[in-house]
Amino acid sequence: MPLYPLRFEPIYQYRLWGGRRLAELLAAPLPGDGPIGEAWVLSDRDDHQSLVANGPLKGQTIGRLMEQYRAQLMGKLAPRFRRFPLLLKFLDAREMLSVQVHPSDAHPDLIPAGDTSKTEAWVVIEAGKGSSIYAGLQPGTTASELRRALADRTIADCLVCISPKPGDAVFIPAGTVHTLGGGVVVFEIQQNSDVTFRLYDWGHMDAKTGLPRPLQVDQALASVDFADSKSGLVTPFVVTATPAERERLFDCEHFLLWRLRGESPFYVGAVEMPRVLVCIEGSGWFEGGGSAYGIDKGEVWLLPAVVGVCEFHPNNSVTLLEIALPESS
Ligand SMILES: [Zn+2]
Repeated sequence: MPLYPLRFEPIYQYRLWGGRRLAELLAAPLPGDGPIGEAWVLSDRDDHQSLVANGPLKGQTIGRLMEQYRAQLMGKLAPRFRRFPLLLKFLDAREMLSVQVHPSDAHPDLIPAGDTSKTEAWVVIEAGKGSSIYAGLQPGTTASELRRALADRTIADCLVCISPKPGDAVFIPAGTVHTLGGGVVVFEIQQNSDVTFRLYDWGHMDAKTGLPRPLQVDQALASVDFADSKSGLVTPFVVTATPAERERLFDCEHFLLWRLRGESPFYVGAVEMPRVLVCIEGSGWFEGGGSAYGIDKGEVWLLPAVVGVCEFHPNNSVTLLEIALPESS
């Protein structure tokens, strides 16, 4: 069967620090009435498998598609990946998350077998007066200064703090100390990894257990890249201005991400390469493999490599994120 553009069901995650704002963004009711911090919108993790939401393959897991249709899905990249290499989420951080670090490939001893390093990046969707993003250490911070700040509970003074606004793009390479919160909603792109070391948790208690959440201070400190110079706010690079404005926000060895804003038709997708579309404002439709597909705010679509280039038609106006995997590693 030829693969077609695939939409996936979000997987919602209870999080102590979360809120209820993803209901509005995803135009779907959230489960329960507790805090939902994360919606995993594309996940090929064994414990959290995204399910296809449309067409003949509805209900299939992304993992199964990667087994059965890898050549069609991944095109030129099929030999390189057994599972889909990116994990995509929306986060609603009502409270501050723990201050955390993900290890880089420079620390294979800190990465469990079968997992990878985790470079990630955020595109801010909503932010308020009390919102903060911490991304990286103040230049020159040493390991002993960081340890002292942890003991004194003054770690925030060691971190680069950003007051986010909608549209901001923040890059967090593996090894960067980071956190966010205070009513900020972001789209998150990351390597498909679940390795997180918590450095500090602001004295928070988990409402479910009544206990502080465990920290992994030693592993976190061992993972910190003290020489980091790439983390933080990114200046968008305008690639084209018409027919849609195409800005490149992230370009690293693990993913590329562009923001597209337009009112007239434009092209998305690529020959023999998979692409992912995320609609963050407005709506539209696109033609792929001879059929038309509507896309609304909050939706995430995977364009299999076999689908190739598609013409996208905004309804009035649209803001999309288009995600690609680099051709070579
Ligand atoms: Zn993180």
